[in-house]
Amino acid sequence: MRPKEKVSKKFDVVIIGAGAVGLTASINLAQAGFSVGLIERGTLNDMMPDVLEDGHTTALMSGSLKPLREIGALSLIEKFTQPMDVLRIMSEKDGQLIPADFKASELGKKSFGLNVPQTPLRAALTQRATKTEGLEIFEQACVTHFTAGDPDAVIEIEQGGKIFSVSAKLVIAADGRRSSMRDMVEIEIDERIYGQKALTFMVEHTKPHENISTEIHKKGGPLTFVPLPNNCSAVVWVHLEDEADNLLKLKKQELEAKLQDQSNGILGRLSVKTSVRAWPLSSLKAKTLHAPRLVLIGETAHAFSPVGAQGLNLSLRDVEVLTSTLLKAAKLGQDIGGSVILESYAKSRRLDMEGRFYGVDFLNKLIRRDSPLEKDMRGLGLDVVSNISPLKHYLMREGMSPQIDKEAI
Ligand SMILES: Cc1cc2nc3c(=O)[nH]c(=O)nc-3n(C[C@H](O)[C@H](O)[C@H](O)COP(=O)(O)OP(=O)(O)OC[C@H]3O[C@@H](n4cnc5c(N)ncnc54)[C@H](O)[C@@H]3O)c2cc1C
Repeated sequence: MRPKEKVSKKFDVVIIGAGAVGLTASINLAQAGFSVGLIERGTLNDMMPDVLEDGHTTALMSGSLKPLREIGALSLIEKFTQPMDVLRIMSEKDGQLIPADFKASELGKKSFGLNVPQTPLRAALTQRATKTEGLEIFEQACVTHFTAGDPDAVIEIEQGGKIFSVSAKLVIAADGRRSSMRDMVEIEIDERIYGQKALTFMVEHTKPHENISTEIHKKGGPLTFVPLPNNCSAVVWVHLEDEADNLLKLKKQELEAKLQDQSNGILGRLSVKTSVRAWPLSSLKAKTLHAPRLVLIGETAHAFSPVGAQGLNLSLRDVEVLTSTLLKAAKLGQDIGGSVILESYAKSRRLDMEGRFYGVDFLNKLIRRDSPLEKDMRGLGLDVVSNISPLKHYLMREGMSPQIDKEAI
């Protein structure tokens, strides 16, 4: 039998995981007037906004930028970000790359959104979080036990060899795709492993990118250049796992030569400016978004292959919808961790999440050159790239102004 925990602090909400999603949710909820505890197993304060250290960026559509702008995080990192005005998909025909452009101006906008490097984004969010009243951060801390009770949940935390407990009306799990909170409450996931890896890094180039995000469809998988400031671009290069592992073994100059060749020199001479990171590609979605006194958001609830540039965009919408749901409930005097509220949140997010999950899964199968779907389409004489374009356009348009949310709320 477990000894009864002595609760040292009471919060309205405790959030587990201080990634971009957990940090944004913490700041939003604290600014909305809730008392918030944020528990992170790593350290936050040593993060510096140094873009050259890491080539991992996220393309954020204008609809997702609003919450980051409102909490003052975007203004801190504007100099690291670059607008994306055009999405260009290029296919190979007779040794030539044929472009198909989708312009933000076709939707009456200057740009689709911004390409935002991850490290500065998390550093900026941390800076805002430490200055937010009503928000207490526990670093290098781990949840060791969770009990859903009434009217509160009790969370046992281990920090620096000490164990203590805090309570909250609601616990928000934002501890990423390998979430231990999700396991603790036994929420199952539907996961798809693609047998591919995405390599990410940053390059400098001699020709200007003109705010065009270029996706080149080649035999090994798509090679994408997403614009960054100072004639630089973030590269996302998808390959089957063995091929990706071989590329990782190349020396810098060999990698540059390969990239130069695969991009047909569209950006001029390329030089690799950061280390190369590899990300095994998979998608997952939680079978349910809530358990008693607990709700899942961000990659804990849904994670995608980066080919659709959907992950963080969708997660920031989770944060927006959850904040407004909890705020409405509190104003009406309802229990913010009660099953009625959590059920209503889950219902309003289900369509957006399921739509992205199946949309990006389909996109991933289309772009994988050896997949049965891709082979069948070619066998029927259908051009794969012309089928990718409408799906990408839909995802971009929805990211800028998500109709799904407006209909669901
Ligand atoms: C190559 C690549 C390209 C991408 N491109 C795009 C894009 O263009 N557009 C887009 O929208 N998305 C993109 N994404 C997705 C996006 O990067 C992720 O969805 C997002 O960064 C995930 O944020 P998160 O906060 O949910 O999770 P994480 O960043 O994983 O944060 C989880 C946090 O929880 C902490 N944690 C874990 N376990 C515990 C625990 N037990 N206790 C306490 N803390 C814990 C971790 O230390 C971490 O700080 C891309 C992803 C990849 C890999």
